[in-house]
Amino acid sequence: MSDCLFCKIIRGDIPASKVYENEHVLAFRDISPVAPQHILLIPKTHVGSVGELEPEHAMAMGELFLAARQVAEAQGLGESGYRLVINNGPDAMQTVFHIHLHLLGGQEMGWPPFSKRLED
Ligand code: 5GP
Ligand code: ZN
Repeated sequence: MSDCLFCKIIRGDIPASKVYENEHVLAFRDISPVAPQHILLIPKTHVGSVGELEPEHAMAMGELFLAARQVAEAQGLGESGYRLVINNGPDAMQTVFHIHLHLLGGQEMGWPPFSKRLED
């Protein structure tokens, strides 16, 4: 049994506010939202990060993006737009090592997404 936090959410060992689920993907609300809509989408198979992706995960990643589109539209974000983010590793501030797509929406966002300017 995996000790991974998101695997525990998939198994139902830890509660989550689920918004969508199919055979391959689970989507639930982020516990600490940074936008009016902040949903996490995860594959039901454990993959630690983008840095651990292998060819055998290709279908799971495709399912993840298809589910993201479905959830975004179901949440009314199809017209206004939304951002999909995957943090990978320390510089990107990944904190949970089960690959996840952040679906962010409900307000206009800034770009680029850095808190520090390049010249600082
Ligand atoms: P990362 O920084 O790894 O890209 O994102 C991890 C995300 O998981 C964070 O936005 C964090 O708020 C969220 N998170 C951490 N623990 C939990 C939890 O127990 N439940 C839920 N729903 N979200 C969590
Ligand atoms: Zn996991």
